Amino acid sequence: MHLILFGAPGVGKGTQAKNISQKYGIPQISTGDMLRDAIKRGTELGKKAEAIIARGELVSDDIMLSLIKERVSQPDCKKGFVLDGFPRTLPQAKGLTVLFEEKRLPKPVCFEIIVPENVIIKRLTQRKICENCGAIYDPLNNPVPADKRCTKCGGRIITRQDDNVDTIHKRLQVYHEMTAPVRKYYEKQGSFYTINGNLSVEKVFNEIDSILKKIF
Ligand code: AMP
Repeated sequence: MHLILFGAPGVGKGTQAKNISQKYGIPQISTGDMLRDAIKRGTELGKKAEAIIARGELVSDDIMLSLIKERVSQPDCKKGFVLDGFPRTLPQAKGLTVLFEEKRLPKPVCFEIIVPENVIIKRLTQRKICENCGAIYDPLNNPVPADKRCTKCGGRIITRQDDNVDTIHKRLQVYHEMTAPVRKYYEKQGSFYTINGNLSVEKVFNEIDSILKKIF
């Protein structure tokens, strides 16, 4: 099962990727989480990525592609994986196709999640995450507990540095310019589904899951 969750920041890719990962036993590969982890560990990659993320811009395609190449070669990816936040540019999408061909993987199934922009902005300004495991908290679906500790791992729950109004607008602009064109690339390839993300987490998951049950 090789899946891509595609869509603007804040449409729920991370939440749905976690649900899919849990139900189907395949890893969630979130490039955003990987970069935030590198920043926390102070690696060379983290040092390069930190300012870029804070500005709401994209890390270079070369870096992202080599990160993904290494990640999908790990043993836990044997049964498949769900990509969350990758690919974000056409060169990344084309590089991923080459990688899939090299590894003789089946063509990925792509889900585009759509949410109106005013809802996205509201969601992102309210969103919190666990700095340790990346669990997502929001007032509606998963409110932050009183002690501000993650209910899954006990980690500290924080506001992402790039979840502020200015950076959110920049990220949406970058999405329209760089990422939205990737949609056509996957639409042309066939296995492409559009999902209404402006529903409850459960309803969105059920919609994705009903498609997965038909395909796999
Ligand atoms: P996310 O957690 O997916 O919203 O990603 C947070 C930030 O990490 C993005 O705004 C980018 O700066 C960077 N990032 C994540 N994934 C990618 C990617 N595939 N290509 C370039 N930059 C990325």
